[in-house]
Amino acid sequence: RRAEFVAMRDLPSVTTDGQRVELMVNAGLREDAQALDLVGADGIGLFRTEFQFLVSATLPQREKQQRLYKDVLDAAGDRPVIFRTVDIGGDKALPYMQRDGDDELEDNPAMGWRALRLALDRDGLMKVQARALLEASAGKVLNIMFPMVSEPWEYEEARALVEHQREWLHAQKKKLPIAVRYGAMLEVPALAEVLDILLPRVDFLSIGTNDLTQFLFAADRAHPKLAERYDWLSIAILRFLDRVVRACQAHQVPVGVCGEMGGRTLEAMALIGLGIRRLSITPASVGPVKAMIRAIDAAEVGAVMHDLLRDGR
Ligand code: PEP
Ligand code: MG
Repeated sequence: RRAEFVAMRDLPSVTTDGQRVELMVNAGLREDAQALDLVGADGIGLFRTEFQFLVSATLPQREKQQRLYKDVLDAAGDRPVIFRTVDIGGDKALPYMQRDGDDELEDNPAMGWRALRLALDRDGLMKVQARALLEASAGKVLNIMFPMVSEPWEYEEARALVEHQREWLHAQKKKLPIAVRYGAMLEVPALAEVLDILLPRVDFLSIGTNDLTQFLFAADRAHPKLAERYDWLSIAILRFLDRVVRACQAHQVPVGVCGEMGGRTLEAMALIGLGIRRLSITPASVGPVKAMIRAIDAAEVGAVMHDLLRDGR
C-alpha cells in the first residue's frame, strides 16, 4: 500500500464526480514543512506555533519566531500556510511564564486560562507574535487563526491587535504582507450558536475536532479510558458539524477541519459527505485519505449522510 500512496503523491485529490478536496497537513516544527513535498500536500492547514514556545527554555524572542515562520513559508513556496497563534496555558504551561501571582495548578486546564484567553490577557506576547508573523510574511499572504475562540468579541479583539501591529509596521515603512486573512478555530461548542455574528467577520473557519469533541461529550481527550468511548461518527457530532458547515456555506465562508478526525479515512469520508472540502491532517494520513477521495462519489456520500442524519441511524 505504501508504494501505492507514494505513486499517488502527484495525482489530484478529486472525487470521481469531480469534487476537489484540499488536503493540507498539520505541522509545528521547521522540519514538518518538508513533509509537504514528501506526501504531496496542498499546504499547511494548521501550524501550531506553540511548539517553539514549549521546547524553548526561555520565551522565544521576536527574531527567533520570525525566522521560524519565514523558513516555513519559504519551504511551503506557493502553497498556503495557516499559522495558529499560540495555544499555551492550561496543561501546556510554560515554566518561564509567571501566572499573575497565583501559580496554583488549574483543576480543569483544558477549560482554563489557555490559548486566546491567555493571549488576550497577556497581549504583549500576542503583539510580539503578530509582528513576527507580519514581518515574516512580507510580500506574501499571511493566513492567521486564533485558537479556542469562545465568543465573537475575542476574535474581534485578536484581529484588532494584529491590525494595529500592521498599521504600526506600515508607519515604520516596513514591507508588509500583500494580504492578511483572518480565521477562527471552532473548538468551543458555544461559538457554533453565534456563527451568524462571527462569520461575517472572518475570512475562514477551521474546525478543531479534538477539542470540539472533548467539549461536546464532556470527555477529556487525553483520558485513556475515554479514548475509544465516543465515536467521531456519532450522530451528535455529525449533526453538529452539519449545522456548522451549512452556516459557513450560507455566509460563503471557507471551512475546513484540522482535528485528527479528518485523518481517518471513514471519518474523512463522512466530512466530505457533509460538504467539507478542506482537510488538514497528519502527513502520514495524506496518502490513505487521498486514495479514499479518488475512489468515492461525493454526491452519493452526501446523500447517504443526509439520510443518516435525518433518521439518526
Ligand atoms: C483541535 O483541537 O482539534 C486542534 C486541531 O488543535 P489542538 O489539537 O492543537 O488542540
Ligand atoms: Mg485544540
